[in-house]
Amino acid sequence: MRLEDLPIRDDLRGRTPYGAPQIDVPVRLNTNENPYGPSESLVADLAEAVRSQAGELNRYPDRDAVALREDLAAYLGHGLTHERVWAANGSNEVIQQILQAFGGPGRSALGFEPSYSMHPIITTGASTEWIAGSREDDFGIDPDKAIAAIEEHRPAVVFLTSPNNPTGTALDPEVIARIVEAAPGMVVVDEAYFEFAREGTPSALTLLPGNPRLIVTRTMSKAFAMAGTRLGYLAAHPAVIEALLLVRLPYHLSSLTQAAARVALAHRGELLGTVDTLRAERDATVGWLRAKGLEVADSDANFVLFGRFTDRRTVWRDMLDRGVLIREVGPPGWLRVSIGTTEEMAAFRAALEGTL
Ligand SMILES: *Cc1c(COP(=O)(O)O)cnc(C)c1O
Repeated sequence: MRLEDLPIRDDLRGRTPYGAPQIDVPVRLNTNENPYGPSESLVADLAEAVRSQAGELNRYPDRDAVALREDLAAYLGHGLTHERVWAANGSNEVIQQILQAFGGPGRSALGFEPSYSMHPIITTGASTEWIAGSREDDFGIDPDKAIAAIEEHRPAVVFLTSPNNPTGTALDPEVIARIVEAAPGMVVVDEAYFEFAREGTPSALTLLPGNPRLIVTRTMSKAFAMAGTRLGYLAAHPAVIEALLLVRLPYHLSSLTQAAARVALAHRGELLGTVDTLRAERDATVGWLRAKGLEVADSDANFVLFGRFTDRRTVWRDMLDRGVLIREVGPPGWLRVSIGTTEEMAAFRAALEGTL
């Protein structure tokens, strides 16, 4: 029995699944995780939180995760309350719920590529047509062209990733505001990497008042160093959250996830304390790559896109042979490296020098 022989949905035929390689090598710099694991005191508090939940695992969790949403709202600031914040198992699930509520057959979603590969995968999984708009040579979005694409396609959902993955490019809130004004449907600003943005970069959260069709998504997978916890969240008008309640699975966030995320938020000083180190390492990496004569995209995230290589596959492979896993992603000729520890970045530089 092969996949093609199954009575699978026609719109899934020939598709490929999300597939960042999970290869066990000494230096893994390919999925933008935070390289710093939790401290012993955080591990102890996480274990205690799980222990105290364990005695009640016969019961369903708080279906609406109110306490966690209150904590997330307090972290985000901007006067937000739990009524304007929603959480799920990773921002990927948050995005899936958005598509389930606002996309669907006969509707489309527009994104500006190169960008996060999961946006089209989640969109098509929700039986929604994906429309690939494009970014400029500097990986920014030209608002006039974006608005023209919106007017042509009338998408139910527009995705704006800022800072963008895999390029690291942050969008000017002016550009976001113009797109929100032009879009007939929902606009999702994916801010998975917001905490890494350079000083003074405003969040799209500042645009929420008066824009009920704007959704800002965040995650604890990157700056918060909690990728294994699977906790993503969003801020939006309370009516948007009412819409998501129609499609979410009941009790989607386990009591263990809710408890772990709340402990992580309580330790945010420690967890986000790594962000400054990673930003400095990122800026040093950009400088080093440019000094090597490579092209490098400006980055407001915890990764750097660099190139261009006539045969990036070979460079990627050579790096892997030297024990350093990076990502073959982005436009042809480019590669992406996630920012690791100081030692990991030294290994990255040594391996890349060996291949050049
Ligand atoms: C990593 C990433 C996410 C995070 O997904 P989670 O499901 O929260 O782990 C979301 N958006 C973008 C653009 C990302 O790169």
